[in-house]
Amino acid sequence: MDASTRTATEESDRREAVVECTRVTRTYARGGSGGWFSFGSDDRDDRPTVTALEDVSLTVERGEFVGLSGPSGSGKSTLIHLLSGLDVPTEGTVTLAGEDVSALSQGELTRLRLEQVGIVFQRFHLLPSLSARANVALPLVERGIGKAERREQAADLLERVGLGDRLGHRPGELSGGEQQRVAVARALAGDPLVVFADEPTGELDTDTGAVILDLLADLAEDRAVVLASHDERALDRTDRVIRLRDGRVKDA
Ligand code: ADP
Ligand code: MG
Repeated sequence: MDASTRTATEESDRREAVVECTRVTRTYARGGSGGWFSFGSDDRDDRPTVTALEDVSLTVERGEFVGLSGPSGSGKSTLIHLLSGLDVPTEGTVTLAGEDVSALSQGELTRLRLEQVGIVFQRFHLLPSLSARANVALPLVERGIGKAERREQAADLLERVGLGDRLGHRPGELSGGEQQRVAVARALAGDPLVVFADEPTGELDTDTGAVILDLLADLAEDRAVVLASHDERALDRTDRVIRLRDGRVKDA
């Protein structure tokens, strides 16, 4: 939709789309002897494909906390990868912070992601040999921020997630919930416009997971947060839920 895309990129507008996809499809070439069949019947080159997402359109605005639900294999992670610029669609358009990701070079896309996107994964993905503070500071290295400033910002972010007294701890010295809080702090380094969380409570018990959900809900006040989860209790915390099934958005 041209009109809404144009509107979304005007900074003066009150409603600001931070990420948007239009008629997005993502197919994967089926490798090796996998058991997946092809959903598409018109493969002309004998190469069966898996359609992970089909004809998905959505818009997320600043200030929104949006849930992405669906059973395992429904396409949640694939959609997060596309919306966050980690992957590009086979068909359709993804617009992230006003930029069409398919029109960018690899370097431009990396830079856009670095500046506008934070991601929290199910399994934390912290570097085990680095302190909590150094893990959080890492994205700031790539952004060219000097050491003293990085250390200060990382300490502030860890303070914000309630870990101000754990700056020097390594991931192995922290509980799962604490490690995920470090990952949330790292996602916030550089003050991104949108934070994606892919099953962030999947490895955590309910109470610990609730702390992470509180943090994510809080973050959505001045940016956007997209939470992929199959946990209805987690989805209950969001402003609205987009439901996926077999790679398609289900009608509400
Ligand atoms: P979810 O996160 O909801 O569990 P995914 O996005 O991981 O779902 O997967 C959606 C579908 O795409 C599944 O059928 C999955 O097997 C397939 N898929 C995901 N990634 C790949 C890949 N790299 N290669 C082939 N198929 C994939
Ligand atoms: Mg997934």
